[in-house]
Amino acid sequence: MDLIQRLLDGSLMPHGHCLLWRGDLLFMHVGGDILTTLAYFTIPVLLIRLVKKRDDLAFDRIFLMFAAFIFLCGVTHLISLINVWHGYYFIEGIAKISTGVVSALTAIVAWRLLPIAISIPSRARLVSANEQLRRAREEILEANSRLEQKVQERTAQLEALAVADPLTGTYRRTYALDTLGNELKRAQRYNTPLAVAMIDIDDFKRINDTHGHLAGDDVLRGIGSLLNTLSRESDTIGRFGGEEFLIVMPECDQTQAVLALERFNKALREHRFTLTSGETLRVTCSIGTTQATGETSQTELLANADKALYQAKHEGKDRVVSC
Ligand code: GH3
Ligand code: MG
Ligand code: MG
Repeated sequence: MDLIQRLLDGSLMPHGHCLLWRGDLLFMHVGGDILTTLAYFTIPVLLIRLVKKRDDLAFDRIFLMFAAFIFLCGVTHLISLINVWHGYYFIEGIAKISTGVVSALTAIVAWRLLPIAISIPSRARLVSANEQLRRAREEILEANSRLEQKVQERTAQLEALAVADPLTGTYRRTYALDTLGNELKRAQRYNTPLAVAMIDIDDFKRINDTHGHLAGDDVLRGIGSLLNTLSRESDTIGRFGGEEFLIVMPECDQTQAVLALERFNKALREHRFTLTSGETLRVTCSIGTTQATGETSQTELLANADKALYQAKHEGKDRVVSC
């Protein structure tokens, strides 16, 4: 009540000519200084908190300088507020000169930092750069997976080429022999049947001599295709030599092997090979087959099949002989 009374009766008026003894000027100056002081004391707290919380903050020293400069500005405003009624001009002078020095230093440091601060990309630029990087990364990943797929396809093709006989579409001799070795071990370990057959085209030399080597190649291709068509999925057919084939037949005993081979021979007998020249030709094969026992070695197995083949030739060709 006393304060209100003093405000109204004019006794709160400042000394001297200060503020011309006008209430409106007193209100504006004092009010403005109070607000400014309050704001200038809180902003440094905010800046210090920001610097403490953000470890990644660039130029954190300039933030602290700004805090000091704003704080001193607040002090200056506080003293000028007090000085409306008192004459602490020395203290105000010290506050002003300190504020001046700190603001000048802050301004120098801020100007020096300006080019670096300008060169810092904006958030929008960072977001767009990030998006570009993400797209580039996706494109690289896609290209990589396409490449990997191609490499896999190419590897599979090369692997197939490495084991395939290019003329007949059957396997190469080495692959067929490797398969025979593995199947023999498996058959002996698990006591399952395994049959092997050696096939030799009858009078092939005559075919070559009569129709030419290219026609002979056509026949070899045709027989390879016929063998592939008529054999079981689990059978492995390899070109053993010029016009000889080897068939590895897992899970197949001698009786089943003979039946299957007879079927093949019948189909071959009835088949008409059409040569590139347009001529048609009939071809027969002699086949020797044998079955592995618990003790048979790979060499013995092949020798037995070869012996049976020899016998088939000897008995008049175009037949299946087992031993
Ligand atoms: P046999 O009924 O006793 O088996 O008589 P053959 O004429 O079939 O046997 P021979 O061993 O006398 O002849 C095999 C021929 O196969 C000789 C060779 O020129 C031919 N030959 C081997 N490899 C190829 C080939 O890749 N292409 C062609 N066109 N002929 C081949
Ligand atoms: Mg031969
Ligand atoms: Mg022959």
